[in-house]
Amino acid sequence: MTFAATILTLYPEMFPGPLGLSLAGRALGEGKWSLDARNIRDFATDKHSTVDGTPAGGGAGMVLRPDILAAAIDSVSAGRPLLAMTPRGAPLTQARVRRLAEGPGVTILCGRFEGFDERIFAAREIEEVSIGDYILSGGEMGAMVLLDACIRLLPGVMGAAHSGVDESFETGLLEYPQYTRPYEWEGRTIPEVLRSGDHARISAWRKHMAETETRLRRPDLWERHEGARVQSPSGARRTKKDA
Ligand code: SAH
Repeated sequence: MTFAATILTLYPEMFPGPLGLSLAGRALGEGKWSLDARNIRDFATDKHSTVDGTPAGGGAGMVLRPDILAAAIDSVSAGRPLLAMTPRGAPLTQARVRRLAEGPGVTILCGRFEGFDERIFAAREIEEVSIGDYILSGGEMGAMVLLDACIRLLPGVMGAAHSGVDESFETGLLEYPQYTRPYEWEGRTIPEVLRSGDHARISAWRKHMAETETRLRRPDLWERHEGARVQSPSGARRTKKDA
């Protein structure tokens, strides 16, 4: 099954862009995912191909028109989640990426200028997604981030079958530190345990390091991880409230 991505954008020529290279590019060439970038401007109805208007009530910038956005959205066959990139959307997580990657694909609406006329969110079933608390000039790079994260999880895209399960966020923890050759570099050596060949010890060390890194670098993740680990006798997860 091919993971089908449709992008609705004012800049379809930005795609595949970086997704045409390396892992994602190879997978695209092999048909493991497909890409259809459509220009929102093609759905404009006046002779100037207008897609935006000035903000009602005044203010700077331009707002994307709901009628044009709806025409673009309605041109895509249903059956796949419809996402819009917005700074106010739900922050993208590895869990959401994984569920999307298990599905048939995505349609992603990319904003520009001041963003979208609010009515589009009431009129169509749209999931708003943010890639972080900062403002981009458009949704395209956000869409690429989301797609890149999904594509690497598609069957057969990453080398080893288990590759990825150990990585940061997959377990709710950051990854343990990694090392490679040379054994000694600028007077620093690789932790001895990693050369011991003792898989139980290595795995215990990695778990310990993952927990330490998470606790120190991302107390927010650590708290969630610890919260999820504490189970009540009934097996129900204890929430922060009753912790
Ligand atoms: N006026 C808007 C920002 C518009 S930025 C506001 O203050 O919220 C233009 C477009 O870039 C947005 O419509 C959105 O599609 C995209 N964008 C900007 N920042 C983003 C982010 N952090 N995550 C996802 N999309 C973003």
